[in-house]
Amino acid sequence: MKSTLAGIHSIEDFDLKDKRVFLRLDLNVPIKNGKITDMTRIDAALPTIRYALEHGAKLVVASHLGRPESKEDRVKYSLEPVANKLQELLDADVILVDEPESEAPSALLRSLKKNQLILLENLRFNEDETENGDGLANAICAYTDIYINDAFGASHRAHASIVGVPAKVKQKGVGFLMKKEIEMLDKIMLAPEQPFVTILGGSKVSDKIGVIENLIDKVDTFLVGGAMAYTFLAAQGVAVGASRVEKDKVKYAGELLMRMKARDKKMFLPVDHRIVTKFDSAADLKSTSASEIPDGWLGVDIGPKTVETFRRELQRAKTVFWNGPMGVFETKDFADGTFAVAKALAELPHATTVVGGGDSAAAINASGYADRVTHISTGGGASLEYLQGDKLPGIEALRK
Ligand code: AMP
Repeated sequence: MKSTLAGIHSIEDFDLKDKRVFLRLDLNVPIKNGKITDMTRIDAALPTIRYALEHGAKLVVASHLGRPESKEDRVKYSLEPVANKLQELLDADVILVDEPESEAPSALLRSLKKNQLILLENLRFNEDETENGDGLANAICAYTDIYINDAFGASHRAHASIVGVPAKVKQKGVGFLMKKEIEMLDKIMLAPEQPFVTILGGSKVSDKIGVIENLIDKVDTFLVGGAMAYTFLAAQGVAVGASRVEKDKVKYAGELLMRMKARDKKMFLPVDHRIVTKFDSAADLKSTSASEIPDGWLGVDIGPKTVETFRRELQRAKTVFWNGPMGVFETKDFADGTFAVAKALAELPHATTVVGGGDSAAAINASGYADRVTHISTGGGASLEYLQGDKLPGIEALRK
């Protein structure tokens, strides 16, 4: 099958020397009290920035940060902490420009020195960004010779810097991160080596229906944990106590179980759980002996027998995709199942193991096994939309 990247240029296809390169990145990192608390997205952006600088580009990098709503949000959502961090990591002079739509970037570019780059202030300070307005896109185009998109995590959004600018620029392509993200997800989507096991968890079935439907023919086995599992158990008539169930998805869950069976595919649900009476306290945390959960108790993690079952199934896998934690892993006492699954993934040296972004990326990072999986996506929403078969606007905008 044809790769998604067929017909799309990569940054390496261009001669960047003295060209004004606009590099859209996803530098949407969590910031608390002015400090960046997770560096994943910045680290992932560095190879493309370095490549552009080393090849003589006059570089303008840009990103969004959070969801600023009013003028007052300009301090809270400023990219200044990111500018400082980039300056430190790149050992380059990072000039933060407040108004991307002003004359300032063009003027600065004319005299930009070798070890300098421009970082535009949060693109979402201009409402044209989310509304894909022409004003911002035209302003950026006026100082862009080559457009590079390396913002995988934002490429499912038809925003000005993602689709508006490339629509008006002839020379355009992907950066290294985008290339890797797509190649890894294509490996799962187009021709996954069998057996292909998909682990699904997290809070809701409804968020993952698209992915389930798109992968159902390719997957050999689904392993289901997290709150999602209770909706499936409820569909089988298993008592789940006070656990979170999506009542309007029970029927769908039941039908899906039947479809899986009819196709001779396997779907494993938890056979035991870790339960509490209150979400916010681990005081009475215990394991159940079977899949039933007593009245008044709620499931916060998969139990040890389930971990064993999932581990056994994973050991046969040649391809694994994981999206969604097995429990409320943000609470240390409820993280055992999620971390055990992360460990089981790390112990598969011959399989391609891909972790979807968002909470799953946070979970594998917290588990300490992040460097032992093949790929962790930097984009939660983008990777899910991609895996449900949607065309990402940011990728389509790069076609010649
Ligand atoms: P998602 O974004 O759909 O992958 O969901 C991630 C969220 O699901 C995390 O914040 C988890 O705390 C939550 N979650 C996982 N398991 C459970 C559970 N058993 N009950 C409630 N929330 C859960």
